[in-house]
Amino acid sequence: MKIKEIFEKKKPIVSFEIFPPKKETSIKHIDETLKYLSELNPDFISVTFGAGGSSNHNQTVELAKKIKHVYQVEPLVHLTCLNYSRSEIAYILEELKEADIQNILALRGDVNSKIERKADFCYASDLVAFIKKYGDFGISGACYPETHMEAANEKEDILNLKKKIENGAEHLISQLFFDNDIFYNFREKVRLADIRVPIEAGIMPVTNKAQIEKMVSLCGASLPGKISKIIQKYGDNKEALFDAGIAYAIDQIVDLLAHDVDGIHIFTMNNPAVARKITKGIKALI
Ligand code: FAD
Repeated sequence: MKIKEIFEKKKPIVSFEIFPPKKETSIKHIDETLKYLSELNPDFISVTFGAGGSSNHNQTVELAKKIKHVYQVEPLVHLTCLNYSRSEIAYILEELKEADIQNILALRGDVNSKIERKADFCYASDLVAFIKKYGDFGISGACYPETHMEAANEKEDILNLKKKIENGAEHLISQLFFDNDIFYNFREKVRLADIRVPIEAGIMPVTNKAQIEKMVSLCGASLPGKISKIIQKYGDNKEALFDAGIAYAIDQIVDLLAHDVDGIHIFTMNNPAVARKITKGIKALI
């Protein structure tokens, strides 16, 4: 089922994000993760996509197939375009078609000097247009409540986002953020720009100090005082940080739901305990 159709049936929706494991041991562990995640009945599970190389895309597609055909959950396949030619993207789209995978998160991908950049796609909106013409897929896109790091300013970033929608994206997932007011301001500006598609809020529970510091430095999300204090106080105590991070994420989600968010997208970091604790904490609200 396309994500657009899921939204026609229910709102808010809840989805999880996982990544293809890198190590052999984690590959075994991913089945356990998927079993737990599917038992929580998410509306879809998305699978991230490595920036370049065929092994990356194979793993993403294989995992998505498993989510759909073994665990009976709708998958959303992330697909980046900066390092791929049109024919390479077409090859992946054929694979997805064959596997009956209907939903794609169309992304540009980060600029990486170590991976050859191809000339066919400059922006995610180019990929959206290509997929739309290519076949009958549900298309999603990314958005940035704190403005994408390379954008000239917020206004330009929202105008660029609009191109993604005009080219065929039907649903947006936001970058992680820790201050809900930033999301509400962004949503208001997006709606004023006449972008009407559902916007899911991306939630990253802070359960690992090194991981969160890396993520924040990569994506430029700001850390409000409250979360910095939590990291400062419990950063070296794994269990305490896990409890505090989950409590913060649940608090964030309760507030988002009270503000009629379209959906919650939880970056699980392949940790089913994170998804389980959060889902339990908001059970009666969704
Ligand atoms: P775009 O929408 O193309 O935007 C990139 C920049 O270009 C922005 O600054 C935008 O304002 C600007 N821009 C867009 N269109 C135009 C235009 N026509 N003219 C001028 N400027 C323009 N990365 C991965 O490698 N794999 C993943 O699986 C992955 N999953 C993600 C999931 C989510 C929910 C999010 C939020 C991000 C994810 N990313 C992933 C990261 C993403 O690839 C990077 O943030 C990347 O830098 C931008 O991708 P985009 O699709 O948002 O790009």
